Amino acid sequence: MANPLQVLVIDDNRSDRALVIRELRREFSHLTVQEIVDAKDFEQAIAKGNFDVVVTDYQLGWSDGLKILRTVKAHYPRCPVIMFTNTGTEEIAVEALKSGLDDYVLKQPNRYIRVPIAVRVALERLEMHQRAALLEIRLQGLLNQVKIGIFRSNSDGTLLEANPAFLDLLGIESPNQANELNLLDTLGYYKQLMEQSPPQQQEQEVQLQRRNGSLFWALLTTTLNTVEGVPVLDGLLEDITERKQAEIALQQLTATLEMRIRDRTAQLEATNQALEEFTYSVSHDLRAPLRIIYGFAQLLLEDLGESLNSEHLGFLQRIIANANRLDALISDLLTYSRLRQTDISLEPVSLSQVLENVLAQLEPDIQARQAQIYVEKPLPVVRANRFILIQVLINVLANAIKFVADKIQPHVRIWANQRGKYIRLWIQDNGIGIDVKQQQQIFNPFTRLHSEEEYSGTGIGLAIARKGIERLGGKIGVESQSGHGSRFWIELPTVMESL
Ligand code: ADP
Repeated sequence: MANPLQVLVIDDNRSDRALVIRELRREFSHLTVQEIVDAKDFEQAIAKGNFDVVVTDYQLGWSDGLKILRTVKAHYPRCPVIMFTNTGTEEIAVEALKSGLDDYVLKQPNRYIRVPIAVRVALERLEMHQRAALLEIRLQGLLNQVKIGIFRSNSDGTLLEANPAFLDLLGIESPNQANELNLLDTLGYYKQLMEQSPPQQQEQEVQLQRRNGSLFWALLTTTLNTVEGVPVLDGLLEDITERKQAEIALQQLTATLEMRIRDRTAQLEATNQALEEFTYSVSHDLRAPLRIIYGFAQLLLEDLGESLNSEHLGFLQRIIANANRLDALISDLLTYSRLRQTDISLEPVSLSQVLENVLAQLEPDIQARQAQIYVEKPLPVVRANRFILIQVLINVLANAIKFVADKIQPHVRIWANQRGKYIRLWIQDNGIGIDVKQQQQIFNPFTRLHSEEEYSGTGIGLAIARKGIERLGGKIGVESQSGHGSRFWIELPTVMESL
């Protein structure tokens, strides 16, 4: 149960006291009353201070209400005092209110009831003040503790208030110093907000100077507010120097890294180019002696073929076969090198037309293996270079016919589908398939998974295909399983109109 309310009732008139006490008891069920009838009682009560509120008459034989009021307030400034009298004048009332009187009730028959109301109102006011004071203390504590600078300035830009963190950030002792040294352009920020429509608030990263001249980065949040009708600028200032420095360092690092990557790429490209030029010229130069070997071997075969014994005939035929292989290899190498060097133009290319051309060129292989080729038409138009696309598809399709187990008739299915802005062309065979682990390597030059005896080839066909597709801005890939056929795909940018 709450402590009883302790009231001093100061009145020389016993029946008045009784009436007041009766009314008080009606309002406050829990009440202790001390009745004061002379100076000694009053002195003792003041000395003990065991009361929460004072109700006093003005006219007393031994004192008067004003003196009582002043004495109580002198000792207990917060203690509510209510004056209940029929003798006081208006001047006395004014005087008493100035000295801190909480309420003034006239002693008239129907006014007694107002005394407890006045007491309750005074007590509630006291409680509100106490709560406000506590809040103020907590707020002040927070303002002092936070690491963020908090300030308020008026519409001239003059700083009115600032917390310790704000002063610390700027290296000053008082808001005035910030005004004098013009460390913060509060007027400027105020004007910026005035030009905005509500909510008038903004956040910006600013570089500021401390009193000692050193610079720091801060996140400044400003808001336009009105306090009792007067416009003010409220602001928060947060030190973000470390973050900012890290950002700057990161930007510099990224810039140097990008530069180094560009340099490296350029170096690599130059080396690659030099290597490919070398390959090209070597391949080119090898061709002439090779043609001579081939030519003379052919002559020997024609002139002496019939007179040679079977062993020597075999030697000669192997020379010719190997010269042929070497020629194919050189020709593939030259194609591969040229792919990098020539400038290419991209244009709409009909996949149907390109495939017709490719199939016509592969006709001898198709015939030899009795291959079945199914093309699902219509095929779309892609953005590519016709010549390069033909080279790419010849290599992929030749493989689809070639890498099929003995005695199996090759079946190749070709179709296309749309993938976003790209067309994917599929070439599916019923061949020997490719182990998942080797599917990436086969696009590198000279990668062959079989011996020449099993399947002939140079190992450059898919390298040509990949380089060609890359130059067209597309992609190439394969889905396959050993023994279950392969599906090669190429992806190229689509063209809306059809040819
Ligand atoms: P080549 O055909 O001259 O051997 P490629 O670069 O065209 O060289 O192909 C590299 C290797 O990839 C081939 O040797 C073969 O082992 C494998 N390969 C390519 N296409 C297929 C396919 N359709 N089915 C099975 N294996 C394939």
